[in-house]
Amino acid sequence: MAIPIPSRLLFIDGEWREPVKKNRYPIINPATEEIIGDIPAATAEDVDAAVEAARTALSRNGGKDWGTASGAYRAKFLRAIAAKITERKSELAKLEALDCGKPLEEAAWDIDDVAGCFEYNADLAEALDSRQKAPISLPMDTFKAYLLMEPIGVVGLITPWNYPLLMAAWKVAPALAAGCTAILKPSELCSVTCLELADICKEVGLPRGVLNILTGLGTEAGAALASHPHVDKIAFTGSSATGSKIMLAAAQLVKPVTLELGGKSPIVVFEDVDLDKAVEWTLFGCFWTNGQICSATSRLIVHESIAPEFLEKMVKWCQNIKISDPLEEGCRLGPVVSGGQYEKIMNFISTAKKEGATILYGGERPKNLQKGYFVQPTIITDVKQSMQIWREEVFGPVLCVKTFLTEEEAIELANDTHYGLGAAVLSDDLERCDRLAKAFQSGIVWINCSQPCFCQAPWGGKKRSGFGRELGERGLDNYLNVKQVTQYVSSDPWGWYKSPSKL
Ligand code: NAD
Repeated sequence: MAIPIPSRLLFIDGEWREPVKKNRYPIINPATEEIIGDIPAATAEDVDAAVEAARTALSRNGGKDWGTASGAYRAKFLRAIAAKITERKSELAKLEALDCGKPLEEAAWDIDDVAGCFEYNADLAEALDSRQKAPISLPMDTFKAYLLMEPIGVVGLITPWNYPLLMAAWKVAPALAAGCTAILKPSELCSVTCLELADICKEVGLPRGVLNILTGLGTEAGAALASHPHVDKIAFTGSSATGSKIMLAAAQLVKPVTLELGGKSPIVVFEDVDLDKAVEWTLFGCFWTNGQICSATSRLIVHESIAPEFLEKMVKWCQNIKISDPLEEGCRLGPVVSGGQYEKIMNFISTAKKEGATILYGGERPKNLQKGYFVQPTIITDVKQSMQIWREEVFGPVLCVKTFLTEEEAIELANDTHYGLGAAVLSDDLERCDRLAKAFQSGIVWINCSQPCFCQAPWGGKKRSGFGRELGERGLDNYLNVKQVTQYVSSDPWGWYKSPSKL
């Protein structure tokens, strides 16, 4: 059952504030195309206020209130946030499903992951205390050295719409665990649950200014944040095109960035697999989250000897996928996020046809759903490596297929992309899987599955999928400055210059 969307303001310095320009944008339910609420639209003026609040929070009471407080102190807030998220799980999952169109059961899974991410980073914050002053062994006993792990400062966190609250958690939780203060700018297409995170921060008494949440357009709020002189780092997840703009803006101030960008990930299926199991993982790898996954294994590379039977089974399994309003029980494919995204996906499909590919399954709006941005799960064959559908990220439920004969050919096809986020291999031969795991040019490899993601394991890409790692301990390190402290411990003088007293 649908629930009302709370009407919220911007969250700056621990309080709700109206945007300086008082603008708001409509929220559209992608399953019905109806306006279901609106969100405040921040501009550069609001970014200034949020950055100032974050800077003040970082240094308040000489830093002791947050940045230089113990990790254990900060962990208490992260755990309190996790607990509130769990308490409000059912409501948050519904809001997420209404706002971005993901099936309710998936949204509920996301909310569990959000709470898990805050809990995990609370553990890391506590462990950070024992990582302080870690000694470094030096080759001279006249010196000793140790490391201090300090928060990088005020960080700008810019996130996409496909996992609205989860992508925010991947950044907010480690940034706060590290002692940074932050400004979160979620996607203008899906900001509802991030504003609820603000409400949760208020409820748990997070010190004011530690986390500020600004909704608004990328070109207004996002760009102002990326180029702000008092923001010490930008962590971004989104498209490669925007990532490149953010890197350019940050370069003017030599500001560090981490970029989690798009992908066109392969899934290689060998002839020795259990066909039904492999078909299910292939579908899940591409159609989960309505196909809007950065790491979607959207290029199927299947051994020629099993291809006809494999594809036949894929079609049968696709016919069984329940496409419906995301709040309907058993929904496995909801609408894509917006009218713009729907058009983009349909254009990809029609270009593939024009270029000579075959739409084996789907490619259209489901007949029974005349409203909403619904796209059938789509399988495209007769694909050439030069085609747009092979080369570019669709970010929708569209899988393209090629066949191979030898392992070398499969690896070559898998790596034939500018991107390098994920890659999957399905085979009963685990030695072969290990060989492919090494050969894939990607930051993430799945063996005999596709997409499962755990907050304990580092996440990120190579090539045009970006750089830096989120999650795992490296996720926390993203928000830390490592300071080396070297001390001269000998009682002897250094003795490099001649002492005047000895003349
Ligand atoms: P997008 O690049 O359009 O927007 C991402 C964020 O950047 C939004 O908050 C947007 O408002 C903001 N933005 C837009 N223009 C900006 C600018 N000039 N300056 C600063 N900020 C700006 O991406 P999207 O459409 O929201 O998300 C889809 C993309 O995200 C896909 O390419 C997908 O692969 C990628 N993605 C990657 C990962 C990953 O972990 N690698 C995860 C999820 C999504």
